[in-house]
Amino acid sequence: MKTLTHFIDGKPVAGISGRDGPVFDPATGEIQARVPFANAAELHVAVAAATKAFPAWSAVNPQRRARVMFNFKALVERDMESLARLMSSEHGKVVADSKGDIQRGLEVVEFACGIPHLTKGEYTEGAGPGIDVYAIRQPLGVVAGITPFNFPAMIPMWMFAVAVACGNCFILKPSEKDPSVPLRLAELMMEAGAPPGVLQVIHGDKEIVDAILDDPDIAAVSFVGSSTIAEYVYAKGAASGKRVQAMGGAKNHAIVMPDADLDACVNELMGAGYGSAGERCMAVSVVVPVGEKTADALVKKLKMRVDGLKVGLPTDAEAAYGPLVTGAHRAKVLDYIAMGVTEGAELVVDGRGFKMQGYEKGFFLGPSLFDRVTPEMRTYREEIFGPVLQVARAKDFDEALALPSKHQYGNGVAIFTRDGDAAREFASRVNVGMVGINVPIPVPLAYYSFGGWKRSAFGDINQHGPDGVRFYTKLKTITARWPKGPRDSDFIMPTMR
Ligand code: NAD
Repeated sequence: MKTLTHFIDGKPVAGISGRDGPVFDPATGEIQARVPFANAAELHVAVAAATKAFPAWSAVNPQRRARVMFNFKALVERDMESLARLMSSEHGKVVADSKGDIQRGLEVVEFACGIPHLTKGEYTEGAGPGIDVYAIRQPLGVVAGITPFNFPAMIPMWMFAVAVACGNCFILKPSEKDPSVPLRLAELMMEAGAPPGVLQVIHGDKEIVDAILDDPDIAAVSFVGSSTIAEYVYAKGAASGKRVQAMGGAKNHAIVMPDADLDACVNELMGAGYGSAGERCMAVSVVVPVGEKTADALVKKLKMRVDGLKVGLPTDAEAAYGPLVTGAHRAKVLDYIAMGVTEGAELVVDGRGFKMQGYEKGFFLGPSLFDRVTPEMRTYREEIFGPVLQVARAKDFDEALALPSKHQYGNGVAIFTRDGDAAREFASRVNVGMVGINVPIPVPLAYYSFGGWKRSAFGDINQHGPDGVRFYTKLKTITARWPKGPRDSDFIMPTMR
């Protein structure tokens, strides 16, 4: 069986802690590799390598750092097919979805190619007699990122592309469930011209996350994962004086107004609800039809389409989605479906009986659809993160607006309508961070910033885009005086003139 390595100081390094974890093939249910779990001593080696690399890397001019990102983009594009297949083999998402994952990450790399422009400072000439004031952005030093299983290329690239382009040295702790693509990305960064120590990968579980949070030489931590852990990472990281951004879970609603084009909407909801087996933080998990008539028509159409969804192998180009990431995660989703039934929601489509012929031990699960889900239900309040779509009926616009606004999560939300006024009012009033108008998954493009509200994000600075540059740099403001004549007693604040 394959044993994976860490990637430290420019080369693969075997784990020495004696602890490791399984990497499954979700289609067969078998363990295909073991991933080492690092301890604090192994982290210290990586931090030392990053600390050593930082002075030279941060002194490289920004256009040369941008050139490394350009090279990296070309290499990832060269290897797109093999990276996507590798991702699918560990995550279970279909190859087209894996390509989408890589592509959305590459868009952040493209953004980072503009780093010379993005880190330009501010300058005021003549703020006083012979006095100029300027503000510059400087990298933080050694920074770390902790990422979830569901986007093993995109989310690491959200972080390290911007961090490294800004001149930082980055230590990535990817999900232990699908660690191979992040490792390949680090190798490709070396091939692109990043010096050893600039991007390193270290695997592990809670033990290494705690070591990262405790390490005094790591200046900032970027986290994406479930909310309980995001909150923990935020609190512990901030308590030890780090800059922290921690994105958490989600429950994204799609409001369907009575005037919406229901067929187009149902079409969009198939991908948004069930794509990647619902294991997306921006997946639509709750559909809110407005009015009984809309609800009845929508549920009928949804049922027809959900019944016809093809679940298949990750390599099956016809499949809507593949297996879930692990057996444990599948079991958790099954528990939520059983709970929904007990809570009294109406199970319109039950995916629990699905078996993939020839792959009976794989982590496959058919699509499920619930109707008449209500806000008191635990299955509504919590994130399921599987191929389960819930319909929560609302009697009018205000009730529909209140559902996502009052939910504990506030990542994404969408409204389907042909009414510009309703859409505009909804976008303005809804208490959620990212809003789609006739767009089911409103993930901001790379040159905007990504981040939810409420329990979907802890910290004030979002991922990538302008916020990414703010997160990975600190502002220094310099007031300079070059008096024309000899220094005299005339040394006062410019504001006093
Ligand atoms: P997870 O929280 O289990 O793991 C995320 C990371 O934390 C992994 O690297 C993991 O090794 C580490 N970790 C696990 N247990 C830990 C512990 N007890 N202490 C410290 N660290 C620990 O999340 P996941 O299952 O990999 O990913 C799915 C979750 O991520 C979902 O909740 C999803 O909504 C969320 N997510 C959010 C966003 C966003 O931007 N808001 C994006 C993608 C995924």
